[in-house]
Amino acid sequence: MHLPAHERRNLLEQRFGARSAPKVSFEFFPPKSEKAETNLWKTVDRLKDLSPEFVSVTYGADGSTRERTHDVVQHLSEKENLPTMPHLTCVGADQGEIDAIADGYWDIGVRRIMALRGDPVGGAGEKYQPHPGGYAYAADLVAGLQKRYDFEIAVAAYPEVHPEAPSARFDLDNLKRKFDNGASMAVTQYFFDTDVYLRFRDACVLAGIDKPIIPGILPVTNYATTKRFSDACGTKVPDWMAEAFHGLDDDPGTRNLIAANIAIEQVLALQAEGIDEFHFYTLNRADLCFAVCHALKVRPGQTKTESTNWRLAGY
Ligand SMILES: Cc1cc2nc3c(=O)[nH]c(=O)nc-3n(C[C@H](O)[C@H](O)[C@H](O)COP(=O)(O)OP(=O)(O)OC[C@H]3O[C@@H](n4cnc5c(N)ncnc54)[C@H](O)[C@@H]3O)c2cc1C
Repeated sequence: MHLPAHERRNLLEQRFGARSAPKVSFEFFPPKSEKAETNLWKTVDRLKDLSPEFVSVTYGADGSTRERTHDVVQHLSEKENLPTMPHLTCVGADQGEIDAIADGYWDIGVRRIMALRGDPVGGAGEKYQPHPGGYAYAADLVAGLQKRYDFEIAVAAYPEVHPEAPSARFDLDNLKRKFDNGASMAVTQYFFDTDVYLRFRDACVLAGIDKPIIPGILPVTNYATTKRFSDACGTKVPDWMAEAFHGLDDDPGTRNLIAANIAIEQVLALQAEGIDEFHFYTLNRADLCFAVCHALKVRPGQTKTESTNWRLAGY
């Protein structure tokens, strides 16, 4: 049975018409080669016009990207004039070393930090050993940073529970501790099941957390890699996603179209539940995030609450 034309149009208008643009932020990683660096600045060039709330830069858990992260952060902050949030982890360094990195950021005008524990040396799945004299967990790092400077501190949250946590309750209490110690927002691990995030958000509210829990959105173009990575970090990859990418190993163009479509659907579903801020894992690629943002009405030079009130031509 077909829907009457006016109902089809209403459905599309509900999806694209009446919403205002959400707030967005972007994650980048420090490049390893000259070519990768050129690509990063091209990506930044395209996405910066979307006026992100902040841009974040990852950090090798054991400090392996210390200089590269710092250089990218400095460039984004000073040259691009973007609100920049370096990631910082506890692994493999004592408190003095970590504090010195934070001092350096404060001195160059950075006012936001994403405070993380980091994965154990050897990768996720190995047993974590706090560094002697270091910050043991992210909650300790948050408290340490808060004592030194008035940073705006973000932390990680896990709608599907962090893989090392003894229980969901323990993990939620840990998140609450991070807020109690001074964090003002959390960014989630990426997820593909919208209901999982919504249940987690409810659990956060019940636990007394009243700060933003910003959904982390990963537009997926490489199913096999995503599946491998997700198994390690505890994100469930639904069967429909395998089906969506089936047979497209040698067809990156079609994979991109599907990736954009899935991410747009995910964000629209969350927006329908009142979520108005999203963090994109860009993987240093502009095209997908730009397309998804465009569909959300996040456009260059546009204020965030303005609605463009799209009309979909032809319907
Ligand atoms: C948005 C986001 C950005 C990220 N960016 C990076 C990055 O740039 N670099 C990087 O290396 N990794 C990054 N990660 C990955 C992150 O470092 C890992 O997931 C890491 O294993 C946990 O970090 P955390 O800050 O969540 O740790 P924590 O909040 O410290 O928690 C880690 C685990 O320890 C448990 N725990 C907490 N306190 C205690 C305690 N006192 N005793 C026993 N157990 C405890 C928690 O329940 C949890 O299972 C990121 C993750 C997210 C979601």
